Amino acid sequence: KAKIQKAQEEGRPYWSFEYFPPKTQQGVQNLYDRMERMYRLGPEFIDITWNAGGTSSQLTSEIVSTAQSVYGLETVMHLTCTNMPKEKIDKALKDAKDCGCQNILALRGDPPRGQIEWEACENGFSYAIDLVRYIRAQYGDYFGICVAGYCEGHVDNPDKDDDLRRLKDKVDAGADFIVTQVFYDVDLFLDWVKKCRAIGITCPIIPGLLPIQNYNGFNRIVSLSKTIVPKFVCDALEPIKHDDAAVKEYGIKLAVEMIKKMYNNGISGFHFYTMNLERSTRLILEALQFVAPVEKVKPLPWCPSLSVKRK
Ligand code: FAD
Repeated sequence: KAKIQKAQEEGRPYWSFEYFPPKTQQGVQNLYDRMERMYRLGPEFIDITWNAGGTSSQLTSEIVSTAQSVYGLETVMHLTCTNMPKEKIDKALKDAKDCGCQNILALRGDPPRGQIEWEACENGFSYAIDLVRYIRAQYGDYFGICVAGYCEGHVDNPDKDDDLRRLKDKVDAGADFIVTQVFYDVDLFLDWVKKCRAIGITCPIIPGLLPIQNYNGFNRIVSLSKTIVPKFVCDALEPIKHDDAAVKEYGIKLAVEMIKKMYNNGISGFHFYTMNLERSTRLILEALQFVAPVEKVKPLPWCPSLSVKRK
């Protein structure tokens, strides 16, 4: 569980991949094949989302078990409080431990589909911090615990300073590291990290990156999550919005530039929301020369090797 701590101390770049449980058995098999191929890219850990509402939670546990015990990937299991009475939380944690998983991303969760307001269920928890405390109380230091952070502030809390204090409370309650929500404004993220450090959050903060795959999908995600998109990104996408290949390529270029800027400002861990896709993440890591290219390809003009000029 201390794997990222080690990478962090060494100051070397590291990365992680998020996957979600597919809807069909064929999708699950495809995901396993993809995980096996992406193992080559050397993620520090991979993580599997938890469906708030519980419809695919058994599948999350199964995928975690396979990734951890069959593929030997350091796996983080997401776990939410949504519709999860303590007995279900207990089972999920026991299953995780039984298959050798040593990391939990402790979340409150979003409301289940069709519900607008989040509500705690009977005999369940109200906030992620309750889950962090519960895991520590039940399992001591067995699990490494990750929590979610929001550099643009969480949508349910209009008071950004309060939201930041809530994050610190989660860390003080026993979280080991933070992974952030998706963002596209690196300056805003770097400012937020400074604020985290100023209020005494000292653990690793890993930025969450979602490479743009296509114009409509991107627009849907950012408008649903109300993510801030810098004007230069909108300007770059507008003329190419009907050309899927060009949008994908821009998504890769943008992620490479974001990572370079963050790395040069002292951030060394990067979390990829892969959307169960492989190509963009691989090309980003190759362009940064974090991994060797799979096949000899001519370097694109916009991705010279990473100049390591850290502040
Ligand atoms: P919390 O930390 O509990 O915060 C929720 C809200 O309550 C915030 O506005 C906070 O400011 C406020 N708050 C916290 N404590 C208190 C308190 N004591 N009193 C009053 N207000 C308080 N969702 C899923 O369903 N499944 C997933 O697998 C999943 N994975 C995610 C992974 C990452 C990296 C991230 C960033 C998010 C993920 N989410 C997932 C989404 C997440 O569940 C939602 O954003 C959810 O709305 C908040 O979860 P949280 O753990 O941040 O909640």
